[in-house]
Amino acid sequence: MSTPSPVETLSRHELADLQLTKLRQAVDRALSTSHYQAKLAGCGIACGEDLKTLADLRKLPFTVKDDLRQAFPDGLKAVPQSEVVRMHASSGTTGIPTVIYYTRADIDRWTELGARSAAATGCTSADVFQNMMSYGLFTGGLGLHYAAERLGMMVIPAGGGNTQRQLKLMKDFGTTVVHATPSYLLHVYDQLAEFGVDRKDLKLQRAFVGAEPHTEDIRCRLEALWGIQVFNSYGLSEMNGPGVAFECVHRAGMHLWEDAYLMEIIDPDTGEVLPEGAEGELVLTILDRQATPLLRYRTRDLTSIIAEPCACGRTHRRIRRIKGRSDDMLIINGVNVFPSQIEEVVMKTAGVGSNYQILVKKDGALDSLIVRLELDAPHFSDDMRDLEALRSRIAGNLMTSISLKPKVELHEPGFLPVSEGKAVRVIDERPTLPEGPEGSCP
Ligand code: AMP
Ligand code: ZN
Repeated sequence: MSTPSPVETLSRHELADLQLTKLRQAVDRALSTSHYQAKLAGCGIACGEDLKTLADLRKLPFTVKDDLRQAFPDGLKAVPQSEVVRMHASSGTTGIPTVIYYTRADIDRWTELGARSAAATGCTSADVFQNMMSYGLFTGGLGLHYAAERLGMMVIPAGGGNTQRQLKLMKDFGTTVVHATPSYLLHVYDQLAEFGVDRKDLKLQRAFVGAEPHTEDIRCRLEALWGIQVFNSYGLSEMNGPGVAFECVHRAGMHLWEDAYLMEIIDPDTGEVLPEGAEGELVLTILDRQATPLLRYRTRDLTSIIAEPCACGRTHRRIRRIKGRSDDMLIINGVNVFPSQIEEVVMKTAGVGSNYQILVKKDGALDSLIVRLELDAPHFSDDMRDLEALRSRIAGNLMTSISLKPKVELHEPGFLPVSEGKAVRVIDERPTLPEGPEGSCP
């Protein structure tokens, strides 16, 4: 089993000292951005040294996704452009994405946290790591790619999809670890027979799964089907990406790397900070990032803190599996989608009415997204070619906006139900499985 690095086993007292020093620096960096200069005015904190204890964090206002939208593109950039070496972006509630910049030191730090996470699962340089997360603006691909290399694993940068090729790569190169969304990993298993691959010909031992909510039962199912250990991996692009919190070999909650992030749990309705152990919304402050500092960022993810020491000896507290979100963001095959993004496209399309419905359901192990629209009466046409052209134009526009190609259904005027109160636009038919306690797989 891997030995934790010294920083992973600092005493709580040492960790708190380190956090306060870093928090002060993070506040100073934040104050060099136009966004935080305006935002922090009036909260009594004019520089990092004004924070006397970690509890003073509560004097700072929250940062929300919309702040990133308003700061787009550079209002949160704390370094000169010449020091920025990369950017990533995630879905915003509308067409404007949330953008994060990284300096070389930021990439290095992120890499270190990911490498530390992979090592905590028992991976070593002898492992072959197949990355089934998509590469690109999404942080799932590149994030753990560099981390796995740092640990010395051989990386197969397979990217998302193309299951037949994934299986061939696994077989040809003796993949021992995969990184995927849990739904995709179930899908790959379902396809073994179809592509004539025998599980016995694969050397798979572990999987890192993340990017979408899943239950303990899904983990148990994956472990039983594949005969492997499955580790929950949590991250979000605003906090770099994967490597924020990760399960160790005990697989009983994810260690959140507290030398890099400060965590709080708040009541999502009132913003009140909740006592340790209570369930609520996770709020994170990234301590080291130079290019885009973020203070008290509301993740919208619902979880709770496990403060009891872990058998692995790491002192960084764990968070429980993410229960859901405190906003309306949907996660469809690992891709974040806000209903408002879909609405924006629908409303801009000539020929369709303003009543629409978003249906999410399971198609085998994967999620499928269906957007139901009503045609405007004057555009209602019997010409199938016209309808098909409109349908495919809308599907294309949605693909550009949300990076997912939904099935678009066009209906005659009056087809969709008209709600009397608050419109029910989203119907999520994906089953919610009963939740077992953390680490309960047989
Ligand atoms: P993104 O910024 O595109 O990487 O998306 C981040 C979001 O994905 C998080 O805020 C969570 O809602 C979700 N997510 C990431 N990892 C997990 C996980 N292990 N379990 C549940 N949800 C996750
Ligand atoms: Zn542990």
